[in-house]
Amino acid sequence: MADDSEALKKQILNARKKHQKLNIVGGGTKGFMGRTADSDAEALSLAEHTGIVEYHPVELIMTARAGTPISVIETILAEEGQCLHFEPPRFGDASTLGGTLACNLSGPARPWSGSVRDQVLGIRLLNGKGEHLRFGGQVMKNVAGYDVSRLQAGAMGTLGAITEISLKVMPIPASSMTLVEEMPIEDVIRYMNQRAGESKPITGAAWVDGKVYLRLSGAKSAVEATAEKWTGEVMEQGEEFWQQLQHMQHDFFAGDEPLWRFSVGSTAANPELDGPWLIDWAGSQRWYRGEADMAQIETMAQRAGGQVSLFRGGDRSDEVMHHQPQALQTIQKRLKESFDPDGIFNPGRLYSWL
Ligand SMILES: Cc1cc2nc3c(=O)[nH]c(=O)nc-3n(C[C@H](O)[C@H](O)[C@H](O)COP(=O)(O)OP(=O)(O)OC[C@H]3O[C@@H](n4cnc5c(N)ncnc54)[C@H](O)[C@@H]3O)c2cc1C
Repeated sequence: MADDSEALKKQILNARKKHQKLNIVGGGTKGFMGRTADSDAEALSLAEHTGIVEYHPVELIMTARAGTPISVIETILAEEGQCLHFEPPRFGDASTLGGTLACNLSGPARPWSGSVRDQVLGIRLLNGKGEHLRFGGQVMKNVAGYDVSRLQAGAMGTLGAITEISLKVMPIPASSMTLVEEMPIEDVIRYMNQRAGESKPITGAAWVDGKVYLRLSGAKSAVEATAEKWTGEVMEQGEEFWQQLQHMQHDFFAGDEPLWRFSVGSTAANPELDGPWLIDWAGSQRWYRGEADMAQIETMAQRAGGQVSLFRGGDRSDEVMHHQPQALQTIQKRLKESFDPDGIFNPGRLYSWL
């Protein structure tokens, strides 16, 4: 529970002087994501920068230092009957709030509860000049110009070291139930979209190993009434299933084969690739395991109205994120220059050219 921002600032100023690159890390639970870290970069550790700065359960707002483990935050929230509605995936107990925002990771409830990006109200950030800046605020209604806080979602630390995050928290749903039934992949996209389109308390829709899983959460009466109307068996271990999916602990995610993440239109036909698939977010997030050519797989994702990234495994010295058009590359380079003029943070981690 300590404020380490002065030490972090000092290390950044020193690095700038010495032209030393910095790799923002801690437990490194998400070291497998992005491109391989620059081996010449020195670690800028958020390990000591932890603790809850403010928590107002009545206002549903929490501010925490970026190195605070997600597990610690969730325990404190649970004591007040609250949670992080974006269901952050954790790849170990060391997973932090900063790393979760930097990697823009959200769990199965994402289409209904929003992403981590949507829950962020404000941040503090150490930029490449060692300036400790504050963006956004700590209130829900926040119209303070361009939203730099949300820009950090998915930047993978390339714009600076996030030191503090204010975010919305939500009550834990009163009741939850999971319905499961067998369904071939050819039918499941239409089915999940149809269910998601009904005004029912749905908070999860996934297809795993030939079965479709729907989660209902909210008031007990609404959950039970919907379960009676819809098809599918009530699953006893429903919560366990969603947690396994959230933290990518299902057998599908085990093994060495490259893991591709498609972020596509929810109603799009599945890309024609032979091999195992797992579908989440009512069709918007699709996981594929297998060897594939990046250029070819990108074309498939674009046809499905979205993008693809090499999430885990494969060649991580080449590009792993979906190719960006020239105009977007120019904007991203300008943003990088204004936050980190000497390019010291996480060189090449997101794209080879950034
Ligand atoms: C009390 C305590 C002690 C700890 N001690 C140690 C220790 O001794 N050794 C150790 O290795 N870990 C330690 N940790 C763990 C460490 O601080 C965090 O686990 C680490 O930051 C985990 O990050 P992550 O796994 O969420 O993301 P990571 O895998 O570290 O990072 C994922 C991506 O996000 C970026 N990123 C991460 N954090 C930020 C940020 N704040 N701002 C901008 N970009 C960011 C990274 O550069 C990377 O691109 C400790 C944690 C605590 C709470």
